[in-house]
Amino acid sequence: MSIQTVNPSTNNLVKSFEEMTSREVDAAISKSDYAFQNWKKTSYNERAELLHKVATLMREKKSTLSKLITLEMGKILSQAEGEIDLSADILDYYATNGARFLADKIFNPEYGSAIARYTPMGVLLGVEPWNFPFYQVARFVAPNIMVGNTILLKHASIVPQCAIAIENLFKEAKAPDGLYTNLLLSGKHASAIVSDSRIKGVSLTGSEKAGSSLAAEAGKYLKKSVLELGGSDAFIILDDADMDKTVEWAVIGRMNNNGQCCVASKRFIAVEAIADEFLRKFKEKLSKLIVGDPMDPATELGPLSSEEAILHLLDQIKRSVDAGAKVELGGHRVNQPGAYMEPTILSGITPKVPCYYEELFGPVASFYRVKDEQAAIELANDSPYGLGGSVFTRDIERGRRVANLIDSGMVYINHPTWTQPDLPFGGSKGSGYGQELSELGIDEFAIKKLIRISVLSDPF
Ligand code: NAP
Repeated sequence: MSIQTVNPSTNNLVKSFEEMTSREVDAAISKSDYAFQNWKKTSYNERAELLHKVATLMREKKSTLSKLITLEMGKILSQAEGEIDLSADILDYYATNGARFLADKIFNPEYGSAIARYTPMGVLLGVEPWNFPFYQVARFVAPNIMVGNTILLKHASIVPQCAIAIENLFKEAKAPDGLYTNLLLSGKHASAIVSDSRIKGVSLTGSEKAGSSLAAEAGKYLKKSVLELGGSDAFIILDDADMDKTVEWAVIGRMNNNGQCCVASKRFIAVEAIADEFLRKFKEKLSKLIVGDPMDPATELGPLSSEEAILHLLDQIKRSVDAGAKVELGGHRVNQPGAYMEPTILSGITPKVPCYYEELFGPVASFYRVKDEQAAIELANDSPYGLGGSVFTRDIERGRRVANLIDSGMVYINHPTWTQPDLPFGGSKGSGYGQELSELGIDEFAIKKLIRISVLSDPF
């Protein structure tokens, strides 16, 4: 059975779920399509009211929901609580601002008048990953419910109870039947349903492999797709950075969510003048992190999401070390049950070393020493990914100049890349395309329908 809750802090199986049959999936698509025929006619006020209700329920159930996150994917509990707050904030943000973002856009042609009206597309398929089981769903679902679309949500197979809990929130908020439907489906069956003519658009957050599989199907059937994929964000430390604060942010940037954020700081690029100091202080802080049970409030670093995830990471480290990388810190799994990995730093990484180009999804930092600012920018850009990135300097103008030259969708100055409801989120290059969050993320799945009014005597 591929859809299961396995507690990664023990690797014990907690619960298994039957995958939906093709007949059940077909019925879910029909229900979603039927719901769309009514939902598209509702007002922005009605849509906003529903989202506010779901947000309120989410906050009321924060304790239960965050424990579910921790149980299924190992996030430390305080961070899981933060994720519930952030997800509820996203729902409220779109409920409050959606109608304004989706107001008609007025054009002034030479003759007559014209508007572009945001019109929903229909049933959307969202495929989401396990690393932020509520946040990833919220940022896709909230804008689209405001637009008037209906949602089929295929969540990651290792977080089925979170997936069911989200559907239940919509039920409890009295959402119309079929507005939000959880599909208990494994990844290998997800792309096949894109061909269904009732599905009008697809969005995937996850790996490049899954993204290209889903987007290939979407392309084949001429459907809009949005992809939020992996990243290997550079964290550039310039010679004038405030070192102690920078090191604190480096630890958070790499270790938040047990090292499993798409926008985690993954490649630490320090200019020669301060490289030794940064490495020494970074190593010192990482070596003191308390690794342990994610339910324990004292824990600072929990397990990876699954045994499969830690085996993959260990294999990447082994291949990298075999190719010449040096282990500065850690490098092994922790000797106890569960998918626990030591905080790790690798150095001596050349383009021949696998982790130079591969994404390391766990508490493993790649450290690079470069001659100067220019070399830091070149190294940052020598990546198949282009998701986020950050630059640390006391000189904001210098930070802006460097940010401008980094090839990625987001760059933060003096902060690791992060997220909030009112700031856009999205990548470039192998990190995907399209936008989520903020005003920019609301209309990916809206048709901007032009309505032009002419008088009969207007010229052709
Ligand atoms: P993943 O294996 O790609 O899984 C993500 C989702 O895709 C899951 O629901 C998975 O289902 C599904 N899936 C797998 N194969 C598929 C296929 N062939 N067709 C359609 N769907 C398929 O990714 P992951 O390992 O869980 O997540 C980690 C990756 O996500 C990292 O690369 C990370 O950087 C990226 N990520 C990106 C963002 C962003 O916003 N850019 C945010 C978070 C994570 P199953 O679970 O059933 O296999």
